Amino acid sequence: MTTIVNNSGNGKTVGVLALQGGVAEHTQMMESLGAQVVLVKKAEHLHGLDALILPGGESSTIDRLTRIFGVRDALREAIISGVPTLGTCAGLIMLAHTVDDPAPGQQTLDILDISVDRNAFGSQVDSAETEVLWRGADEQLHPVHAAFIRAPRVSRVGQDVQVTAHHGGQVVGVRQGNVMGISFHPELTGDTTIHRELLSMTNFRSSFCSLS
Ligand code: GLN
Repeated sequence: MTTIVNNSGNGKTVGVLALQGGVAEHTQMMESLGAQVVLVKKAEHLHGLDALILPGGESSTIDRLTRIFGVRDALREAIISGVPTLGTCAGLIMLAHTVDDPAPGQQTLDILDISVDRNAFGSQVDSAETEVLWRGADEQLHPVHAAFIRAPRVSRVGQDVQVTAHHGGQVVGVRQGNVMGISFHPELTGDTTIHRELLSMTNFRSSFCSLS
C-alpha cells in the first residue's frame, strides 16, 4: 500500500486563534500537512504568519476573549492586510458583518460582507456528518466530508462575496478576497481539501485583493 503524503504546508507558518474551541483539530490537520502552527492568544503571536485559522467553538465566548486578551484589533488588521484566513463555524460568525441573533453584547470582527444566523441547523443533537460540494479557487466543485455542529447559515451575501457551498438549500460557504468562511468542520472528519486550499493561497498572497 502506498501512502500519499501531502507536504503542502512545508515551510509555512499558520496561526490558529487559540482562545476557545476546536484548536487542537486544526493544529493537527495543519501539522499533518507539514505546516508549523503558532497558537494565537496575543497580538504578538500574529507576526510573520502565512495564514490564519479561526476555529469553531462558541462565537460569543471567542468574541469576548479576543477583547479581554487584547488581540481583537491586531487580528482584524492582520486579516484585512491580506493574510489568507479560514473561519469555521464560530470562526465564520466572528468574520461576519452582522449576526442576526447575537448573544447579549456579542460583536464580530466585521470582515466578510455577510450576515449569519447562528444555530440555523438546530442544536447539538441535530449535528450531522455529510458531504458538501465546495467550490475551490479552481472553480471546480470538490466533495468535502463535513461535520455540522450547531452550524450557522449565511443569511445575506454581499455583492463582492462568492458563495462556495450550500447545504439544505442554505449558504454554508463563502469567500471574499483572502478570506474563506465555512459553517461546517472538515477538521473533524479529516478532510484536508479546504486546509490545502488555504495553504496554496499563501503562495499567491500578493495577487489577492485584500479587504479594506
Ligand atoms: N453555534 C455556535 C456559535 O454561535 C457555533 C458552533 C460551532 O462552532 N460548531 O458560536
